Amino acid sequence: MAVTGKGPYDQQNIFAKILRGEIPCKPVFENDWVLAFEDIAPKAPVHVLIIPKKPYVSFMDFSKTAPAEEIAGVMRAAGQIAHTLGLEENGYRLITNAGTNSGQEVPHFHLHLMGGGPLPAFPQ
Ligand code: ADP
Repeated sequence: MAVTGKGPYDQQNIFAKILRGEIPCKPVFENDWVLAFEDIAPKAPVHVLIIPKKPYVSFMDFSKTAPAEEIAGVMRAAGQIAHTLGLEENGYRLITNAGTNSGQEVPHFHLHLMGGGPLPAFPQ
């Protein structure tokens, strides 16, 4: 069920558990700001999730409350990951679902990085 993307942060959400090492993931990148790992149900040949290490429910929360340095750190990491995965030459998609209408399922802000082949016309 889609989450509202608002309200208090749920420390038991699946990405919080991944960050704490309580459930496994397939990591592709990590730095001080983010962890990036393969999506468990990929919708593209390359489908990576990029999540801040700090607890933000959604982009609405992140964009309003994260320090500018952290916002820059997360966005720079996203570009760096796309570069490292070889997605720049043919391009990629970077999206976030925020709140109920978007279908956000996991209440920890995340960026979907998709590429590796032609993507369906947006929106999917
Ligand atoms: P939606 O599922 O509608 O895309 P989100 O934007 O909240 O909603 O995306 C959650 C994403 O997290 C989905 O793409 C889903 O496949 C992925 N996911 C869920 N559980 C895991 C997990 N344990 N490891 C990796 N990816 C996961």
